Amino acid sequence: MTLDTTTLRIAFGAIAVTLFVLFYTVSFRQTRSAYSAWWCAAVALFFTGSFSFLLDGTAHQVWANPLGNTLLVLGTVSVWAGARTLRTSKPAWIQLSAAPLLTLFASALDSPATNTWSGGPVFLGMMSLTIGLASWELWRLPSSYSKVQAPLAVSSGFLAILYLARCLVFVVEGPDGRIFTTYFGSGITTLITMLLLVVVSFSAAALSAEQIATDLRARADRDALTGLLNRSGFLDLATTHTDRLARTERSGTLILADLDFFKSVNDTHGHAAGDTVLKAFAEACTETVRSTDLVGRYGGEEFIFLLPGATVSRSEDITRDVSMALRGHSTPGGFEMPTVSYGIAAIESTGYDLDAAIDAADRALYAAKASGRDRSVRAIGPAMEGRGSSAEPPDGPVRV
Ligand code: GH3
Ligand code: MG
Ligand code: MG
Repeated sequence: MTLDTTTLRIAFGAIAVTLFVLFYTVSFRQTRSAYSAWWCAAVALFFTGSFSFLLDGTAHQVWANPLGNTLLVLGTVSVWAGARTLRTSKPAWIQLSAAPLLTLFASALDSPATNTWSGGPVFLGMMSLTIGLASWELWRLPSSYSKVQAPLAVSSGFLAILYLARCLVFVVEGPDGRIFTTYFGSGITTLITMLLLVVVSFSAAALSAEQIATDLRARADRDALTGLLNRSGFLDLATTHTDRLARTERSGTLILADLDFFKSVNDTHGHAAGDTVLKAFAEACTETVRSTDLVGRYGGEEFIFLLPGATVSRSEDITRDVSMALRGHSTPGGFEMPTVSYGIAAIESTGYDLDAAIDAADRALYAAKASGRDRSVRAIGPAMEGRGSSAEPPDGPVRV
């Protein structure tokens, strides 16, 4: 049986148009995710590229053949760009345009009026490279992502290898060689690509929905003003971290921080200036702590830290560094940054109970406020009990 390339190309184009319409109306219009936008662009480029090849053998081949090659490579570049948006890394325009431009030049300079395989090795090589990059991106997605990423990565990896094999055989024996025409000709590749396109489009719809869900989840966990974790986002992650510390019996600290006389910043310099101070404090925190530490906005001008592996005295150094970093930030009217009070509790001393650690840190913070502000106070066991009754428990808080 011989596969008629023209018929297959028409079938491929028709299927790609149908997928485009379905994907656009069902997935893109509902999710508007970056991934689905790139996937729509890719499918549109695939069918326009495929239709361009139908002009082979006519007077239009001179422009249609290089154009078809370029559109197909642009399509696979779009698949790659879409896969990158799942990891929120945006590809630069130079990265996106390099492979299509190379394909265009190679095809345009390779007698496109008479040669239906103009720029053949470059076209096949670029297809293999860009599909391979898409596969690699999908493979590197965090395992928390949807389950469809693995079959998607494998399908595109398979296609990348197929194109690489085509490229190599093409270079060795040319487009009329026996192996190339039997195993790697346009007909068989079009058929395989058609099947994969259908499979991959379904997975792409699932990934697109997942991208939106991940984005919403990330936004729900973040404080809009400072970009730090919000209270519930912090508590969710802190619970997981605390459980892990308990299992390994490692130390860690919970810190509550509260800006001193912050209300007077608002009253004297305005609410917008207050907001700037809050953002500066958030930056001072993220500049100072490690990437494995958690920082959140607990509410208003109160912040919360979980420092896994840290001792109380190391945490005291960190609070000093955060306050120093805050002082280093400039304020809108040049006024002085407020000072900060901290309460520090060792997680292990509360039996790895997050709520108890927050309570203990809160009492220590209260003691820090009561004893003059601009300081850190350690929570010391049961001696810290009775917030409100005694600002400075007898053997309690230690000023830093
Ligand atoms: P203390 O040293 O005892 O903590 O005094 P304070 O003035 O910092 O504390 P108080 O609780 O009296 O005031 C907190 C202020 O924080 C009141 C509130 O208007 C302000 N605030 C809370 N959230 C925001 C915010 O998002 N932006 C701004 N600009 N102000 C906020
Ligand atoms: Mg305050
Ligand atoms: Mg407060």
